[in-house]
Amino acid sequence: MSPPHANHAAHERAFRRLAFPEATAADWGDWRWQLRHRVRTAAGVARVLELSARERRALATPAAWRMPLSITPYLLSLLDQEAPDGPLRRTVLPDVREAQVRKGEYHDPLGEEAHQVAPGLIRSYPHKVLLLATADCASFCRYCTRSRAAGKGTGRASRAAPFPRAALEWLRRTPEIHDVLISGGDPLVWSDARLDRLLKAVRAIPHVDLIRIGTKTPAVLPQRITPGLVRILRSVRPLWLSLHFSHPAELTPRAARACSRLLEAGLPLMNQTVLLRGINDNRETMQRLNEGLLRLGVKPYYLHQGDMAAGTAHLRSTVAKGRAILQALCGQVSGYAIPHFMIDPPGGGGKHHLFPGGGRAGA
Ligand code: SF4
Repeated sequence: MSPPHANHAAHERAFRRLAFPEATAADWGDWRWQLRHRVRTAAGVARVLELSARERRALATPAAWRMPLSITPYLLSLLDQEAPDGPLRRTVLPDVREAQVRKGEYHDPLGEEAHQVAPGLIRSYPHKVLLLATADCASFCRYCTRSRAAGKGTGRASRAAPFPRAALEWLRRTPEIHDVLISGGDPLVWSDARLDRLLKAVRAIPHVDLIRIGTKTPAVLPQRITPGLVRILRSVRPLWLSLHFSHPAELTPRAARACSRLLEAGLPLMNQTVLLRGINDNRETMQRLNEGLLRLGVKPYYLHQGDMAAGTAHLRSTVAKGRAILQALCGQVSGYAIPHFMIDPPGGGGKHHLFPGGGRAGA
């Protein structure tokens, strides 16, 4: 584990007492308390973090934000360990450059709306679908591909949003589909009961072999991985989890415990990371991230070249840099620590490999 986390528990406790003095240790460990106390305003951030002039300027102009602000108290405690403008801060704090939409950027960079076959159900491949269960996430990442939808119908509205009946109906009558990825948003912000209902409904479809869940909760809300949730997930195995750690600072002892619970329940864990300019696009950070993930029992699976989402140029690194980083890691780290480098070209049509091999073979 990286040195900043050597005294993680002590730091968390000190941060809680200072920033959320009314919260007990039990509150802090409760994922519902964490969701209810997400920081969503500039004033809420400024109250807790020492900010740079750049961070202050961006927070003062919410009209320029491309998506809402939402940060769990837990994640805020990790940001507090960083200097202003630190890498993890840049993943969740707005930037004035979000307002600039460059040529070649799109609000729907993967053309998902054109591939929607039922409300919230995207079919970009013949055999698999993406089920967008919710637009809410525990924390919003500024580089999100689906920022066009992020935060719409969040909180209570999300939990009361219609259950995806039409999507399930479509799945039942489409036997070519064997693989269902449930994502969003982050489906693990749903209540246990609602998630259980959805997972059981998908598992009951005879032609669906593979169910996957895409979630960032182990990185930004590890408290969500409760024994009750794990029982639900375990009951519909085989189920794979696609996690989303972006930086080694997210690999805390709490995150490690969350991953350990999932692994002990027989749930395989893969990680997907976006290559982010000035955040993780250097060899040393990528090595610490991927080797740290392996120590947690998580396979670094995909490294994604940033999508052409509107207003994300300042966070998008280059294909050449991604290739050079992975090339430099070859022979220096376990092969398991080297993810596939992927790109999703604008407009849909599926992923392409960028590494290994240097060519662009179909994924
Ligand atoms: S967790 Fe995923 S869906 Fe949610 S904001 Fe981050 S990248 Fe987007």
